[in-house]
Amino acid sequence: MVTEVVKASELHKIDPVFGQLSFDNHEQIVFCNDKDTGLKAIIGIHNTVLGPALGGTRMWKYTNEWEALNDVLRLSRGMTFKSAISGLNLGGGKAVIIGDAKVDKTPELITKFGEYINSLSGKYITAEDVGTTTPDMDLIRDVTPYVTGISEARGGSGNPSPVTAYGVYMGMKAAAKYQFGTDNLSGKKVLVQGTGNVGETLIKHLTAEGALVQMTDINEARLHEINAKYGAQIFTGDIYAADVDIYAPCALGATINDETVNKIQAKVIAGAANNQLAVEEIHGKILKDRGIAYAPDFLINAGGIINVYAEIVGYDSAEALRRTENIYNTTLEIFSFAEQNNITTHQAALSIAQKRIDDRKKENAK
Ligand code: NAD
Repeated sequence: MVTEVVKASELHKIDPVFGQLSFDNHEQIVFCNDKDTGLKAIIGIHNTVLGPALGGTRMWKYTNEWEALNDVLRLSRGMTFKSAISGLNLGGGKAVIIGDAKVDKTPELITKFGEYINSLSGKYITAEDVGTTTPDMDLIRDVTPYVTGISEARGGSGNPSPVTAYGVYMGMKAAAKYQFGTDNLSGKKVLVQGTGNVGETLIKHLTAEGALVQMTDINEARLHEINAKYGAQIFTGDIYAADVDIYAPCALGATINDETVNKIQAKVIAGAANNQLAVEEIHGKILKDRGIAYAPDFLINAGGIINVYAEIVGYDSAEALRRTENIYNTTLEIFSFAEQNNITTHQAALSIAQKRIDDRKKENAK
């Protein structure tokens, strides 16, 4: 008999899965173990009301299994809302493989993982994420049809980043329309943090429109390359205190946090990075109170998944772009819904996504 009183903060250690802090009524969690290849993976299926759970496979050197489980629970939930708000008939899922992609990844391990995906008969569909590549997806395709992001040579949709960047650009224009009364970005000062795959294409669109773009990156060579291509200026100094109209986080998550949130001078935040708000409720609310228009990350960075969706339903890249362009309208709807209900834009986006899932659930039950 357990007589010890357990502190609330310790409960997640008692109930290893359903008691995890990030557990949010996930439908199914699959633990995959293969002694021969050393595969240890977890597939998280959060919700399949709108369709099969789609989300990438991350291979990461987690410090422990709790961390891996927490990551897959959190990421798979995020995918549910991203697809729902984007109007896609997809549910939310994600997978993590425990290990260092540079050291532990072998073709045998990836193939074995593909077999586990296949055993779920399409309830979960995978894609690339940190630590996995297009060639890995091609290997998985050898053993299961439930994979996207395979190479163009094998009928895949190719690199999603330009489409993601286009969606971010659309979301930024909508946020500018809401905040400044015009979506014309010509003459607007925009700071892009991170000039990788998405950041570069975003800068291309912005400079073409006449925005005054400044940029930061930890990779200095990259900054000089982008400067030479598009004329964007290299920013030095405190990014968060920068005197700009728009801040576009396109590098890492949680940049809007206790340290930065009150310094930000930009009137619009719109970027590609996932999980920009360190604590959604707290930092979203501070932005709202400070009158900063925040375009929810999971809405405006959905171009990539919209593109991948094309692989599943079989429509063409023009249709994927049209759907991505629609991020403009959805972002405006969210700003208006948030204002009417006096809630943050992040809460507004979550609530519209949840309503779509609830409505479909009712329809399915009829
Ligand atoms: P990327 O790896 O190609 O580029 C990231 C860039 O950020 C790199 O140039 C890197 O040097 C730079 N960087 C890293 N730390 C930095 C720091 N502290 N300050 C400034 N720059 C820094 O990644 P990407 O594909 O361009 O994606 C950018 C962000 O958007 C990521 O957070 C990613 O998760 C998110 N995202 C990407 C896609 C997509 O389709 N690629 C889709 C959805 C979300």
